[in-house]
Amino acid sequence: MKTFRCGQCKALNLVEKKKQQDPKPEDKARAGKKQKTMDRPFNVMRALLREYFKVSFKRLTNAIDEQKTEKSIKKALPVGVIKDLIDRIFNINILQDEMKVVIAHSYRQGVADAARDMDKPVIGYNTQMSEYIKEKSFDLVKNLNDETKNRLKSMLDRETINDSPVTKIKEEVRAIANVAETRAERIARTETMAAYNRAQIDQAKAADSKELKLMKQYVATIDDRTTDLCKRLNGQIVPVDKKFKDTVSGGSWLAPPAHVNCRSTIIVKPEVAFS
Ligand SMILES: [Zn+2]
Repeated sequence: MKTFRCGQCKALNLVEKKKQQDPKPEDKARAGKKQKTMDRPFNVMRALLREYFKVSFKRLTNAIDEQKTEKSIKKALPVGVIKDLIDRIFNINILQDEMKVVIAHSYRQGVADAARDMDKPVIGYNTQMSEYIKEKSFDLVKNLNDETKNRLKSMLDRETINDSPVTKIKEEVRAIANVAETRAERIARTETMAAYNRAQIDQAKAADSKELKLMKQYVATIDDRTTDLCKRLNGQIVPVDKKFKDTVSGGSWLAPPAHVNCRSTIIVKPEVAFS
């Protein structure tokens, strides 16, 4: 049995004990694929705990370094602080917001992949998406007057609520903006993806915190149609509130699409989960 010098190490031991209680590898293998997917949140949870300890440990050692006398160190590190720290870490509530984002994003990523395969946006409509559509959608489309733009915005808002396929949105774009079919399809795809990606960012921003920094990664669909721009941006990781940057063109984007007909998307995870 190991001995521990401080509450920090004791708390880490609790994590070890928790790990030992987890099923053995052979049991896991028997449980099959379902177990594998169940493991994912726990891996993220471990990463979050590691980061939380790292931050807390730094804070506590800084307090020791700055406070030289026994009395002042005791004051800076009352037993209650350690107890509170452990209580807070093992009370999962503190991590709930971050976990929610990670889990929701994993789910949506799967949904986005399915949407591509089925050629239908299986997107969960939400308030952020609606706000984005009303404020920003169709802004990059050239040669549209304000009235047409507003009609397109209302249409996209309505169709995302109805969970309509891109083909339906394309037909609406064609009718409202009086554009050719290929252009209508480009517009429909780009705007739907834009609304979806922006909603992800807004949600992540709301859950971002100093202790658990959330990052986003640019993920391009790589095939023979991928643009050079998206090939360069692919894999780039930045904080959720910062822009992806392309040094060649000098352009920057909070989220894809980076250009018309862009099929890129994003992944949001805590910083530690990327390393
Ligand atoms: Zn692209």
